[in-house]
Amino acid sequence: MGIRQELLTKIKSIEIEKVELPKKVSGYFGENTFNIEAMQKYISNATFEAFKTWMSEGKQISKEQANEIANAMKEWAISKGATYYTHWFQPMTGLTAEKHDSFISITGPGKVIEKFSGSKLIQGEPDASSFPSGGIRATFEARGYTAWDPSSPAFIIESKLGKTLCIPTIFISYHGEALDKKLPLLRSDEALNKAAKNLLEVFGHKDVKKVFSTCGPEQEYFLIDKNYYNLRQDLLLTGRTLVGAASPKGQQLEDQYFGTIKERVLNFMFEVAEEAYKLGIPVMTRHNEVAPHQYEFAPIFEESNLAADHNQLLMELMKKVALRHNLVCLLHEKPFAGINGSGKHLNWSLADDKGNNLLNPGQTPEDNLQFLAVLSAVLRAVYLHSDLLRASVALAGNEHRLGANEAPPAIISVFLGDQLSRVLDMIEKGTKKQVSKSDIIDFGITRLPTFSKDSTDRNRTSPFAFTGQKFEFRAVGSSQNISTAIAVINTIIADSLDYVADKIKKAQSAGKDFNSAALQVIAEIVKETKDIRFEGNNYADEWVKEAKKRGLPNIAATFEALEAFTKKENIALFEKYKVLSKEELVARYHIWIHMYNLTLEIEANTLIEMVNASVAPAGFEYQRLLADNLIDLANLKKQAGLKPDAKALEDLKEHLDEVVSKIFYVRRNAGVLKKLLDKAALMEQEKRAEVYYKEMKPLMEHIRKHVDDLERVVSDEHWDLPKYREMLFIK
Ligand code: ADP
Ligand code: MG
Repeated sequence: MGIRQELLTKIKSIEIEKVELPKKVSGYFGENTFNIEAMQKYISNATFEAFKTWMSEGKQISKEQANEIANAMKEWAISKGATYYTHWFQPMTGLTAEKHDSFISITGPGKVIEKFSGSKLIQGEPDASSFPSGGIRATFEARGYTAWDPSSPAFIIESKLGKTLCIPTIFISYHGEALDKKLPLLRSDEALNKAAKNLLEVFGHKDVKKVFSTCGPEQEYFLIDKNYYNLRQDLLLTGRTLVGAASPKGQQLEDQYFGTIKERVLNFMFEVAEEAYKLGIPVMTRHNEVAPHQYEFAPIFEESNLAADHNQLLMELMKKVALRHNLVCLLHEKPFAGINGSGKHLNWSLADDKGNNLLNPGQTPEDNLQFLAVLSAVLRAVYLHSDLLRASVALAGNEHRLGANEAPPAIISVFLGDQLSRVLDMIEKGTKKQVSKSDIIDFGITRLPTFSKDSTDRNRTSPFAFTGQKFEFRAVGSSQNISTAIAVINTIIADSLDYVADKIKKAQSAGKDFNSAALQVIAEIVKETKDIRFEGNNYADEWVKEAKKRGLPNIAATFEALEAFTKKENIALFEKYKVLSKEELVARYHIWIHMYNLTLEIEANTLIEMVNASVAPAGFEYQRLLADNLIDLANLKKQAGLKPDAKALEDLKEHLDEVVSKIFYVRRNAGVLKKLLDKAALMEQEKRAEVYYKEMKPLMEHIRKHVDDLERVVSDEHWDLPKYREMLFIK
């Protein structure tokens, strides 16, 4: 028996001790977070009020107050059993980073106390030289600083032998440039806040204190048994299978989506949810996805910054908990070829401090008008800046989805649904009539329809779809930190909200009454941005042609998509809204290109090793089997007078020939791949990314094709790499 076959006998679920009484979630939700209630118990009223004002109005607290909070945080954490603390941040790698310090301070020979001061709460100084900075930080200035982000509560991470207090922070250079993904998100929310309040004021709402974006990221993922994972160096090192023949049964029968969840998976989901609840992460929905062994968690939406932190934490939790169940959670965008990949549907909306959702159509004509103004701002933002949206989701993993015949396509368009589309068409044409009962529209007295939030029909193929009270950006990759996509959405929409507000004011000063002014601006934008709207099937070839006619960009390559961050007008936009400076943007561009290259280099080197050390040897064994077989037959013919069918002999020979040449192809192409890597190593990063995309990826696909052909014929016992049909189906 080969190692793979031996392993098949070991695949089983872990034994789980039955929990007597499932705990009531409300009883422990957020118990491991230093949330506002926990804080209130530990600090003075004055400091508590100061903190709240800081959060709602941005008025900084004093150093003494920060010290008081730090102390409170420490007391709280120690009472929970924490002995270490760390500043928790989100560097450009897309992961989260931690550097742990103990609470102890030496007070005398052999004596320590637990101490944690405000200054340590507010600022840390991890060695930044190992984090990508894209050239922002000169090497002589390797320092990077972490600074407390009070808008996201500190939390405690438990492991078997201890607890650690994690303090969410931003990560900046000595000169204050963003080195992380979080600071731009916070800055973009500020820009959005200002712009949205500006528009609301035009609509007569002068008392709104704060507007912010809300997000609910739906997280897709795969689970496979850990035993398989350990035998697949491609999954281990790159997160995806670089070779692997399709399973005869894939997702054709569509029997997985929303199907009964297997008990082993359900146990995993229960534990993830419990851990998430302790950290105050409101996971809400869990279900099977389309592909075999693909699943999804969706949270209740929250303020973007918190949603982004929570999504990072959730991904960490999912990976951690999976291991406890002898499973591995795959967050890569395309772990398996030929079946669906994983994304992260980013549900996005705007809310004010009074609890209103600005993308809620509302009950009155006035509310409807304001809704349409915000909606037109979204349309304009996507129309003008679809390149930035595409760039915000550009990474090697996602390249296998976007622009590769998979959901969603690389062409960014907006879906609005029937009812809204009809209303916009009427506004554009200035029609003054009733189309149907629900579509009343009369410009004379601004009677607009009352939209019902549930009337949006579904179009699952659209990359940017209005799904009733929110937009859903579906192009985000499953492994991605959502902060960049949110920062881009916030920024481009802030710009358009300002535009709409200005235009309405101008039309008013030209003598129009408010309602007609607003309608006129909405109509103009609807007309101008028509090309970005598409209600049909986004996967169809006709759409690709149609989009081309409309002049919509269709950018499949990551290196090309990323160029949006270096365009003059885009830099000007980010600078205007103080979200990212030119230096920060260009640095990001370089980091992302570099990361793309590193990812592809790791993949290529892994593939070369797999071909030489796994695939070819298995092929040789099978080749020997065939050769021995032929020799045996020849001998039998000669020595025992056996008369094998000539056709049967011919067939064997042909098959042997075929196997010999397949092995030859894969080995030769692996050699070509190695040479290509050597050649690329001498190129600039940008050029390298282009060569990897245009030459190396097709070459790797070509190698894979031959490897997969071999897998289909090589004797099962000699093939040591776990197969798709096993990884995706055996429980
Ligand atoms: P759908 O069926 O349209 O996908 P759900 O109600 O299941 O809608 O929500 C999907 C995700 O969208 C959830 O994570 C949810 O929290 C999020 N969501 C709902 N409303 C909003 C909103 N106003 N802003 C941001 N996200 C939202
Ligand atoms: Mg959805």
